[in-house]
Amino acid sequence: MQKLEIRTVRDLLFYLPFRYDDFSSEKQIADLNVGDTATVLAMVELLRTIRVRGKRMTLTEAVLSDDSGQIKAIWFNQPFLKNSLPIGGKFYFSGTVEHKYYNKTFMKPVFEPAKEGHESIHTGGKIPIYPATEGISPKQIRFLVSLALKSVGNLEEGLPEFIQKDRHFLPLADAIRAVHFPENDEEIARGRERIEYEKWFWIQGRVAYLKKNLETLGAMPIPFHEENTKKWVGTLPFTLTDAQKKVSWRILQDLGRAIPANRLVQGDVGSGKTVVAFMAIANAFWGGFESVLLAPTEILAKQHFSSAKNILGGLEMPILLLTRSDKIFFDPKESADQKISEKEALFLIKETPNLLVIGTHTILEEKVRFLNLNLIIVDEQHRFGVRQRGILRSRFAKGGLYPHYISMTATPIPRSLALFLYGDLDVSMIGELPPGRKPVATHVVGDEDREKTYDFIRSQIAKSKQIFVICPLISPSDKLGVLSVEESLEHLKKDAFPDLDIRSLHGKLKAKEKDVIMSDFKQNKFPILVSTSVVEVGVDIPNATIMMIEGAERFGLSQLHQFRGRVGRAEDQSYCFLFPTDSSRDYARLLIMENTHNGLELAQQDLELRGAGDVYGTRQSGDFEAVFGDGNNDYSVLERSEWVEGVRADVESIFAENQKTGRYGDIVAHFESEAKGIFFE
Ligand code: ADP
Ligand code: MG
Repeated sequence: MQKLEIRTVRDLLFYLPFRYDDFSSEKQIADLNVGDTATVLAMVELLRTIRVRGKRMTLTEAVLSDDSGQIKAIWFNQPFLKNSLPIGGKFYFSGTVEHKYYNKTFMKPVFEPAKEGHESIHTGGKIPIYPATEGISPKQIRFLVSLALKSVGNLEEGLPEFIQKDRHFLPLADAIRAVHFPENDEEIARGRERIEYEKWFWIQGRVAYLKKNLETLGAMPIPFHEENTKKWVGTLPFTLTDAQKKVSWRILQDLGRAIPANRLVQGDVGSGKTVVAFMAIANAFWGGFESVLLAPTEILAKQHFSSAKNILGGLEMPILLLTRSDKIFFDPKESADQKISEKEALFLIKETPNLLVIGTHTILEEKVRFLNLNLIIVDEQHRFGVRQRGILRSRFAKGGLYPHYISMTATPIPRSLALFLYGDLDVSMIGELPPGRKPVATHVVGDEDREKTYDFIRSQIAKSKQIFVICPLISPSDKLGVLSVEESLEHLKKDAFPDLDIRSLHGKLKAKEKDVIMSDFKQNKFPILVSTSVVEVGVDIPNATIMMIEGAERFGLSQLHQFRGRVGRAEDQSYCFLFPTDSSRDYARLLIMENTHNGLELAQQDLELRGAGDVYGTRQSGDFEAVFGDGNNDYSVLERSEWVEGVRADVESIFAENQKTGRYGDIVAHFESEAKGIFFE
């Protein structure tokens, strides 16, 4: 039960079925046909358990009878059934009839005694099927839920009356009863609606509370150094886009206030978020503050380190790279890198007033202490959980003052999800790409056109361009047909491009080896890099013009879009070639990539095709799973952003009423405690 996160009777009541078996048709045995799913009232005539020869398996068979006839029933590996199904006993059996062992057979029917006054929960009607886990079956959960339901009347209603009335909700107890043991589909829908609302009400309540609360916190303003900023912008190798200017302006406004900035910057891959981050960092530096730039991977952290040296180094800014395997200090006085020990790094962080620290989550460790950290920038923020944001906020607070917080993401999300994941943040969009970027020409390619693709790659290399090849796995595996990095490397070296220098990159390499490969690739010392998804986010090699993806069907559309975003980062026409392992399957999904170049559209398609669990689930907090489940059920609110916004509006009106008249104090207090639990632990 603990694995399912069921710890209280209340948890059990809110543990919802993911589907229902319809056993409402009660039949006579003689009327059963193959394929029927039905319930019969029958007597156990015979029962025996045998060991299946040559297999570690037992088979229990029974003969069941009623006035109309007899039928065989079969269960596997349940030898103990003989204790619960005595010969001569009368039971309701529910299940599906199949043609097995030369006869109509009831396969693994569920059953319960047909006693006077015994309420049926496992058979007849719509039977709830619960997500189960090792050691506990859906049937056991159903039984426990039926026990818990006896106390459902003790549940407090919770929601204010005006909401219950406006939305014509079932009372909570009825809603819960209805979703577990419904009479009909309409009851299921009404019950779900009430329970879904309950969840979102508390989520939006705590997020709204948090947002209000953040506005009461204190921060040290980072003044906008306008002259310096203009001069610095003039030194950039490009002109900022209008979108970059607008978002930078918003951020600099935020930073200048005495409350912590709390902004998410969304911008499609290649829209130029890094330079926006650097502008904020430069102002922190001029203000005499330390900054942190946090990246989800070491490769990306190192890339940021090297662009920071290029773009910010001229300001004489001290910059430190801090990852698990590397501590490198860029000393502006020497204008050179120094490898240092962890101890030295920790000392610098504690003693240098305007240091920029770039790194991975290592920065969050307890031993890292800052002198006057006042700006935290999180890149590719979707790679970090909701909780980590809270930890970040509170971890570096000092004397009641909180650092400013800016996060950046290229993974666009639908509004309803944003309200859940980012409802406490201000959001800005960088809605345009730098000028001259051409959409990456994308083609799904069958194996028959492999040679032609290689010829094309050759022509690009002749123009001194570079190629990424992405594979889903490092080593060959028994997953039939999926090309691994090792296999692809060998194939390309031996069969396709024996004259070229081809190298490979993956997570198992030592940090140092990865560095050498990435920096050689950046300097165009070799033309083809074969890699796993370690280059998925952020990697910036403007000279690369081809992204070739093996086993493309194994990636989501958003992920493919991220890969594709590794090319087309300069003005040359770039290309993305998707090779599905098995062209018969999933082809249609990949074809979407040919015509769609907009990240938000792709994310939405992904959601429809694969469900939220797959697209966002595993990378987010456990909380997320609790709300969205596997994301595959019909009740998903992902497409109902207006509905979610309505819940948010209800919550806001409760806050407003509470401010005015003091009503709903208990609800607001509850929002508060939830918010503290999640975000300030
Ligand atoms: P992302 O938003 O995906 O993080 P980056 O910040 O890595 O994008 O920028 C992508 C590339 O575009 C980089 O090579 C960067 O130097 C370049 N770039 C950024 N802004 C501009 C601009 N305004 N004009 C031209 N190139 C730009
Ligand atoms: Mg980036």
